[in-house]
Amino acid sequence: MRPATFVILGASGDLASRLLLPAVGELLHRDTDRELTLIGAGSDAWDDDHWRDAVRKAFAAAGAEDEFPRVAETRYVQADITDPDALTSLLEPLHGPVVLYFAVPPAVAAAACTALQQVRLPEDLVLALEKPFGGDREGAAKLNAVLRDLVPERQVFRVDHFLGRDTVLNLLGVRFANRLVEPLWSAAHVEHVLIRFDESLALENRARYYDHAGAMVDMLQSHLLQILATLTMAPPATLGERDLRDAKGAALRATHIWDDDPVHFSRRARYTAGTIGDRRIPSYVDEPGVDPSRDTETLAEFTCEVRTSRWAGVPFTLRSGKALGTARAEVVVTFRKVRHLPEGFLGDAPDGGVLRFSLGPDTVTFELNVNGGDDPFELHREAATVALGEGRIHAYTQVLSEILEGDVTLSVRGDSAEECWRIVQPVQDAWSRGDVPLEDYPAGSPGPAGWATSQAS
Ligand code: NDP
Repeated sequence: MRPATFVILGASGDLASRLLLPAVGELLHRDTDRELTLIGAGSDAWDDDHWRDAVRKAFAAAGAEDEFPRVAETRYVQADITDPDALTSLLEPLHGPVVLYFAVPPAVAAAACTALQQVRLPEDLVLALEKPFGGDREGAAKLNAVLRDLVPERQVFRVDHFLGRDTVLNLLGVRFANRLVEPLWSAAHVEHVLIRFDESLALENRARYYDHAGAMVDMLQSHLLQILATLTMAPPATLGERDLRDAKGAALRATHIWDDDPVHFSRRARYTAGTIGDRRIPSYVDEPGVDPSRDTETLAEFTCEVRTSRWAGVPFTLRSGKALGTARAEVVVTFRKVRHLPEGFLGDAPDGGVLRFSLGPDTVTFELNVNGGDDPFELHREAATVALGEGRIHAYTQVLSEILEGDVTLSVRGDSAEECWRIVQPVQDAWSRGDVPLEDYPAGSPGPAGWATSQAS
């Protein structure tokens, strides 16, 4: 294993301390022969001692305090990473392979990449960028052009930690390895699909980022469209990087807002004060750092269609929000009713059965219409759940491991990043014109009363 230098840009931020540094600790704990030089860089006036203390604490939080001596020489560089001279001083002493991880807001990452065009880069430089990638389709295209000028596509990681390797493989395994599922995976059998990420967490002091992004950019435009692509892509010949990313790219290119009508097929809402368990949640607009005039949505949904012969006519609804009563991360695939139910059964089968993937910990549940029980003619619903495993390591540890191994399979390819913006652009335009009202829902509720997805079990 070649020793690598891992540079976190934005080292004093939330992502670095809460997720990236613990992941470095967990990775070193798991890979005992890995050698890593760790460098933090950011605009805050930290010194090396302050930084080492932050690293030690983060390792302890991951149960990896014993690994700290392996990075004890770690140092912190105060730098404005949008300044080419500061980047030159940071990178000049480093030797490849070097990973630059941009744990900074998207506009800062884009400006830093532009600045890198004026810097002599270390050999084998790898660039890892967080979502959201660019601020819109044009921004994503511009950023892709800058990145192409810096390093080959295989050295760019557009990170999507949400779909860790285990979850992707779990989805693909159920979809492709079962005659019970694989031949039914098309518009001929599927009625509709819901991809949902409902959080019971509220803003959690992240206004600086979230109040600019909102639920649609934070979740639907990135993570949930990646899940849609994984579910709807044509069967790839192999699980290799090229086959998987080509298939996902083709699925995204075929995806459009339902009826090309974002006014009727998108919704947005914002939470008001309420209670979740024993937590009192203030109204979103009263959270520190929120600018109410931005009209930032904390719950978003839209319905889209994947216009291929496999999927045309099947509505896919993507929904995500904060401060909801029940946390649910799931894909719900509802099958069409059987063509003929023999007369004589009592009751009705509301659909042809449901396949429900719950994400993290991953399970798959088959919800079937069955009879039996007291009256053998009466139909009712029973569910059988299969655990798909806990996943071996945390999402960010998987991400770091893939970056250090140079495995871009699960990173979002440049063309797909642009497609995701293209898909949501009509919704963003309709929302900014005010054509879709901003509704509200009390924190702790299932969402606005009129939304079918707030009622769906
Ligand atoms: P924060 O605002 O907490 O951190 C950003 C850091 O970047 C701060 O330390 C900030 O320093 C620093 N910074 C800003 N501008 C510069 C600059 N010109 N030069 C050097 N440093 C700079 O954001 P997060 O950590 O929450 O998020 C970072 C990225 O990660 C975002 O794109 C977000 O979408 C993504 N992300 C975050 C997650 C999270 O849970 N936090 C989860 C998934 C993705 P200063 O404070 O001095 O401005």
